[in-house]
Amino acid sequence: MRIKACLVALLTMVFLVACSGPPRLASAVPATGDAAGCAEALSPPLPLDGRGDPLYPSLGNAGYDAQHYTLDLAADPARNTISATAAIRIRVLQELTAFALDYQGPEVHSLTVDGAPAGYERDGAKLRIALPEPLAAGQVFTATVAYAGAPQPVPSPAIPLPLGWLRSANGSYVASEPSGAQGWYPVNDHPCDKATYTLRITVPKPYVACANGRLEGTSDDAGTVTYLWEMRRPMASYLAAVNVGDFVLHTEEGPAGLPIRSYYARPVATAATRAFAHTAEAIAFFNSRFGLYPFAAYGVVVADVGLGAWAMENQTLSLFGRDVVGGGQAASFGPHELAHQWFGDAVTPASWRDIWLNEGFATYGEALWLEHTQGPAALEARMRAIYPGPGSRALFPPASPPANDLFDRAVYDRGALTLHALRRRVGDDAFFRILTAYAARYRYANAGTDDFIALANEVSVQELRPLLRAWLYDEAIPPYPEAPAQWLLGPQFLPEPLRLPGYPWP
Ligand SMILES: [Zn+2]
Repeated sequence: MRIKACLVALLTMVFLVACSGPPRLASAVPATGDAAGCAEALSPPLPLDGRGDPLYPSLGNAGYDAQHYTLDLAADPARNTISATAAIRIRVLQELTAFALDYQGPEVHSLTVDGAPAGYERDGAKLRIALPEPLAAGQVFTATVAYAGAPQPVPSPAIPLPLGWLRSANGSYVASEPSGAQGWYPVNDHPCDKATYTLRITVPKPYVACANGRLEGTSDDAGTVTYLWEMRRPMASYLAAVNVGDFVLHTEEGPAGLPIRSYYARPVATAATRAFAHTAEAIAFFNSRFGLYPFAAYGVVVADVGLGAWAMENQTLSLFGRDVVGGGQAASFGPHELAHQWFGDAVTPASWRDIWLNEGFATYGEALWLEHTQGPAALEARMRAIYPGPGSRALFPPASPPANDLFDRAVYDRGALTLHALRRRVGDDAFFRILTAYAARYRYANAGTDDFIALANEVSVQELRPLLRAWLYDEAIPPYPEAPAQWLLGPQFLPEPLRLPGYPWP
């Protein structure tokens, strides 16, 4: 996510944004839920609801692993209603007689387990389901929930913005980090339970629906079109997205044939095409710094809505507001959300406390792109600009953010400075080997701060714990990591040429 320091008022369903103060700088275990970094939360005894996240303990549920979501969703943009069926394939992790999903969406009309009607109750943000018969660990079943109505914005303690299924000028978009997914589908809403998705979206003509993954087909019916999207790599619930609008499709080919498909709101389509003209080049650059792009497609959506400095790294389809294309902001927002595809999306935090592993990395990704396009002095200037000077607000330790301020600039800026300090300590060669090893080892899975520190030690063969813990956990920020004199002559590290596998991508 990319976000600006704003005073945000949530007023009924309208949000008013009045910016004040300095801008915040932008924001492999397959889908089985027993991912690295998340194992601790799965130790018995398992609570039925609430996964015990250190910041948001009630988010998510334990006792099972959601493996695949099939969402059949018809949207009526004019009335802002949806009518949907969510079929969730679930593997049982401990003997269950009941289980819970997170859900704050429209009215539920029916609920079955393997086709048999199941009892359920809604209690706040939980949908509790009684199983027709007890299920043992290892069994797999499908829960199917039919629901319809007008999705309401979901408030969150993490950020003073409404989340969930939200209206644009001519359609809708989804904003879910950290807990908006439950506003539009029933879900195990914690990043530790990643899953694959089938998104079958029906919209009236001439609306277009775009979502995560690859578009596998469309079918016309009288007056409507159904778009079939498949996300075949594990995805955290907060990255699932459906965008409905009057979009102009822009396609191009990325490195080694990677399909890039972007959807631009018609009124700004020409400007958006210009603003995101460097997407393919940025993917190629990050391939050389982070390792191979982890998904089968990429693209951006520019929705017909003003989002200020907010943007979101939805998996394979980053989301931006129409106002990002006018002022040159796409030059930094674009690389930020793209970097998240490696850090946040493919490698997902094990808990929300580890948010710096998303935002610090994406902010440093922006700076690396600056270094690539404008030279090392530009990166150095960016890092000095975000280091707090005399009289500026302190940046709290980024690995322990407060629950009511998850996206404070500290997790962005001090997170990025942490990586910069690491790079200064170990040198470019070891630094980029750490980044690529981290992206590869935890790809499609989860990692926590301790996982990253241990990996940095291992790859560099150095004791980095004192350095990293000071940057991540000490109340006072360490001194600025000064560069050796020769540093500004240019990067010391030239990565090996990548051996790209060619299409199809993973
Ligand atoms: Zn971000």
